[in-house]
Amino acid sequence: MKTLNNFNFKDKKALIRVDFNVPLDDQFTVTDDSRIVAAKPTILKILEDGGSCILMSHLGRPKGFQSEFSLKHIHNKVEDIIGVKTIFVNNSVGGEAQAASDNLKPGEILLLENLRFHKEEEAGDRDFAEKLSKLGDVYVNDAFGTAHRAHASTAVIADFFPERKYFGYLLEQEIESINKVMENGDKPVLAILGGAKVSSKITIIENILDKVDHLIIGGGMTFTFVKAQGGKIGDSICEDDKMELALEILEKAKAKNVKVHLPVDVIAADSFSNDAKTQIVKVSEIPDGWQGLDAGPQTIENFHEVVLQCKTILWNGPLGVFEMENFAKGTIELGKSIAEATKNGAFSLVGGGDSVAAVKQFGFEDKVSYVSTGGGAMLESLEGKTLPGIAAILK
Ligand code: AMP
Repeated sequence: MKTLNNFNFKDKKALIRVDFNVPLDDQFTVTDDSRIVAAKPTILKILEDGGSCILMSHLGRPKGFQSEFSLKHIHNKVEDIIGVKTIFVNNSVGGEAQAASDNLKPGEILLLENLRFHKEEEAGDRDFAEKLSKLGDVYVNDAFGTAHRAHASTAVIADFFPERKYFGYLLEQEIESINKVMENGDKPVLAILGGAKVSSKITIIENILDKVDHLIIGGGMTFTFVKAQGGKIGDSICEDDKMELALEILEKAKAKNVKVHLPVDVIAADSFSNDAKTQIVKVSEIPDGWQGLDAGPQTIENFHEVVLQCKTILWNGPLGVFEMENFAKGTIELGKSIAEATKNGAFSLVGGGDSVAAVKQFGFEDKVSYVSTGGGAMLESLEGKTLPGIAAILK
């Protein structure tokens, strides 16, 4: 791997694509700084070598220049977290940016304005990428959150650094974690897929069947599988047009010797509301007018046993509507089981969207092996796609 440790950055200007797309409140205060914190090890390594850092990122989805999406709002936060005075310039290319880069001394940091103020960024424009490339001597990509995009700063720019392009520590960790699950995980390997819909996970399921020994299917996806097998699911969420596909998946899993575990009971509710009346019922005997919104107690126990048998665990998607307190138990208990398995030596990766939110909300972040920083990028990796941002460095 082209990692930072293979290079000494002394007197070099490192142009680093970071993912500082952080949430801001209406006072433009950063409400979750974890993405800035995540880039810190890479930045410090380069500064400690005696190099300088030019940080480039996008923020939100601006249409041209829009002050509310300016990276000036996060300038102080970056300084606080990295602990080094940082210069900010009002553009990512052009005279001012170039001059600031030319004047940058070892040990200093330059933060560029939002890349997406130029439409050329998302278009993957070559000239724009070339202009950016003139700002640094070495290119480092540490933005896993945008690694699935072939944008100017995430992929195209790498062509201008054929010999001097590297993965940052964060990107390296993400790649290693995915590989641990998808390529060289200790057996048995388990994937837990939850969330709302089969349709959004279908490519992942198909890809993953070749990699795992056990597959837990939970959350809203469950009911398409249960109905396809002739069960009564009441008013539970279901994609009728995916029922055939669900049966095919079960067949394929059988042929590949993958053990599929579905919920056996659910917490059924008489409406989609935290205050709904509830009852525990068998997953295939949900009365009309009721919908399954969380895993039931027997399911929780069954999944606990499966999780504790496994040495490598991937978790994507909640087991219920965890946003509502009364339907969060299945997801919380699963988090506890994974934490216990991790403590016993298993490798656990949580990635892709809502399970990451759940893990953070319920305090399991430090009890699993790795929590991915990229939603879409993680999902595409699990689908088996090669991400443009990663391919550009390896090329
Ligand atoms: P996804 O983005 O596909 O991982 O889906 C996450 C969403 O699935 C969360 O917002 C959950 O509330 C939702 N979800 C999980 N279980 C159920 C269920 N049984 N019925 C409806 N929605 C669910």
